[in-house]
Amino acid sequence: MILILLGPPGAGKGTQAKLLARDLQVPHISTGDMFRDHKARGTELGRQVDAIMASGGLVPDDVTNSMVKDRLSRPDVAGGFILDGYPRTTAQADFLDQLLVSLGRRTDRAVSYEIAHELLVDRMSGRRSCPSCGTVYHVTANPPRKGGVCDREGAVLVQRDDDKAETVGRRLQEYEAKTAPLKRYYQERGVLTEVAGTGSPDEVLATTKRALGRS
Ligand code: AMP
Repeated sequence: MILILLGPPGAGKGTQAKLLARDLQVPHISTGDMFRDHKARGTELGRQVDAIMASGGLVPDDVTNSMVKDRLSRPDVAGGFILDGYPRTTAQADFLDQLLVSLGRRTDRAVSYEIAHELLVDRMSGRRSCPSCGTVYHVTANPPRKGGVCDREGAVLVQRDDDKAETVGRRLQEYEAKTAPLKRYYQERGVLTEVAGTGSPDEVLATTKRALGRS
């Protein structure tokens, strides 16, 4: 199954993508994670995108598209995959469409997580993640068992630079201007499913699976 997860930053796409990937046994492809990995490894691409990400802006389409094209050339995507945070612009969606056509494949579903905007700022500012295994927590809604450390790894949880208050507003603006129109894009192609993004991660997972006919 080729699945695209849409929704504003803070809607829970990353958390759902991880849960769904485990459930459906397909790779989770997050362009945000890929860029963060490049930054952490200090690659040329990482240096190129560092300032853009820190400002809450979007990395140029050609850079993002070519990274995704490379990723989709790997054999592990043969049985399907979940895209989280990509596409984020109409140009990226067109690129993906054409790439999939050239591979003889197509998007099965685009799930859009719906959530009131008032909740997003709280979700992003309270988000903490494990630098070792990537598990995502929230300081009040989904805290770790022991204050500030990962349940699995015991590592001290960190806040993403771009989840800090000064960057969150810009990310939401970018979403509204450039990414929100993609709902219509996939609706017109008959593959859009809207899912309420409120509730615990397990509740949202159950709703998503029902919507995909996989429960
Ligand atoms: P995310 O983890 O999906 O919230 O992405 C973090 C940041 O990475 C975004 O704010 C952008 O700066 C960059 N980024 C991730 N995915 C994309 C994309 N598809 N297009 C452009 N920039 C992206």
